[in-house]
Amino acid sequence: MARYTESVCRLCRRQGEKLFLKGDRCYSGKCAFDRRPFVPGEHGRARKKVSEYGLQLHEKQKARRIYGVLESQFRRYFERAEREKGITGENLLRYLERRLDNVVFRLGLATSRNQARQLIRHGHVAVNGRRVDIPSYLVSSGDEIAMHGASRERPFVKEITAGLAHRTPPPWLELDAENLRGRVVTLPKREDIDVPIAEHLIVELYSK
Ligand code: SF4
Repeated sequence: MARYTESVCRLCRRQGEKLFLKGDRCYSGKCAFDRRPFVPGEHGRARKKVSEYGLQLHEKQKARRIYGVLESQFRRYFERAEREKGITGENLLRYLERRLDNVVFRLGLATSRNQARQLIRHGHVAVNGRRVDIPSYLVSSGDEIAMHGASRERPFVKEITAGLAHRTPPPWLELDAENLRGRVVTLPKREDIDVPIAEHLIVELYSK
């Protein structure tokens, strides 16, 4: 399965902003972007004039990097979003939010989407009582997401979820912190999605 192999902090530096891909580390003094807030490489500090196309591409890359989605899959989300009723950009964000790795992260069962992907791939997450090991699985309204069976007792899971009782999930999700599970109350609306993405730029890019 294709996946990112580059250092995730390098993605933030390439993007020119913090994408918060590493959980707690992003809020600590160890954040690579805080220490070196410029694009990696010899010409990283040079100021460049950005074209309209460059801005659109930048926004698309940001969305891909935040959600950890490869180009081909991102394109497929866009094509599905375009075929649906409603505003294409919002439909696209809704697809990204519905990914199981994002939902596990949003519930606080993982400290980052990367960590959520790892937990899912290793079989620690269940949807409606059945183990699901596909991070891109799309949740639906009413689905119950939980740490699977014995995984709840694993020390690393306890460590990750230690502060869960203080976690407030987004309004479209419900959290049962004690039992390490959550429920999709309804599918998210645009105002429920707090990612700093101007989705209309992505729509413009793909509509050329
Ligand atoms: Fe980005 Fe987080 Fe790494 Fe900082 S620590 S560069 S915010 S992934």
